[in-house]
Amino acid sequence: MTTLEVRGLTKVFSIRSGLRRSALRAVDNVSFTLTPGRTVALVGESGSGKSTVARMIARLEKPTAGKITAIRPDGTPVGGRAYRDHVQMVFQDPFASLNPFHTVEHHLARPLKLHGRARGREETRRMVEQLLERVNLTPAADIAQRRPHELSGGQRQRVAIARALAPGARVVIADEPVSMLDVSIRLGVLNLLARLQREDDLAVLYITHDLATARHFSDDILVMYRGRVVERGPADEVILNPRHPYTRILAAAAPDPDARDRARLTEVPDPEPAGGSALPGDDPGCTFRDRCPSAMEICARLPEDVAVGRDHHARCWLHAGDGHGARPAAGGATAERPA
Ligand code: SF4
Repeated sequence: MTTLEVRGLTKVFSIRSGLRRSALRAVDNVSFTLTPGRTVALVGESGSGKSTVARMIARLEKPTAGKITAIRPDGTPVGGRAYRDHVQMVFQDPFASLNPFHTVEHHLARPLKLHGRARGREETRRMVEQLLERVNLTPAADIAQRRPHELSGGQRQRVAIARALAPGARVVIADEPVSMLDVSIRLGVLNLLARLQREDDLAVLYITHDLATARHFSDDILVMYRGRVVERGPADEVILNPRHPYTRILAAAAPDPDARDRARLTEVPDPEPAGGSALPGDDPGCTFRDRCPSAMEICARLPEDVAVGRDHHARCWLHAGDGHGARPAAGGATAERPA
């Protein structure tokens, strides 16, 4: 069992446009904890920074600032090579993440051997087949000899999940794991991830822009907007009682979260206005204010992260008390009184 602590995670990219250079703050001071047996969903539209967070946790991207620490149950940090054994990633695109020239057996045997979990041909073959059976790919001996192009998209993603488990993963970062799959098979893959999480007591970060599955498959939800976490809390609380104006827009646009037919997992429409908006940058204020129906003058300043319920926080001036003299901005709708 491994806990993953993320503190003050920040990523600034340097962008060159002709002779000009500028800084793009893609992730700004993000903190959360992944604990064994629980799933945290990181929700947001394209460009919100959620995949950059995933890539930094998987050590595919170096943070500009902040700390990511994997901790064993006895309190000792997991470092170096062991970190890569403990923390594994499932990518969005199962077509690109598997080498078309190699068999399924090769894809799974390699991490088993590299991470010292299997020795000798027989033991490796047996463990490969066990992994395939765990992800419901049977007959395992037959599947093991196939190449990626001989599998469906859903089967490929199951192989990718088995490959993440092969080194003995304790923390799984699933970056939009079903968004490229046919709608009819998404539920099966998400149910598989949920079962493996229960069986192995995994700590899971589920990155998605689908609020319905975020609520159904997660214990807690973090909502990201332009690099910042704007709301966080228990999944039901965030979806059924959203407090940040951005989350409210997302929740209002999402399909009925109580709908029984979970097979119809429609993605949340991107509420980005026509023509898009600026990339996340070094905005000193609330980055949502150009789209917020409740924007006020004070929103030009960065709002604090404040408690709006039990374990429920929002970063919005509407909830920062009434001592700021906040008034609606010109053209903005009348703001509700701070809670
Ligand atoms: Fe941001 Fe202000 Fe709108 Fe809150 S009310 S989301 S702080 S613009």
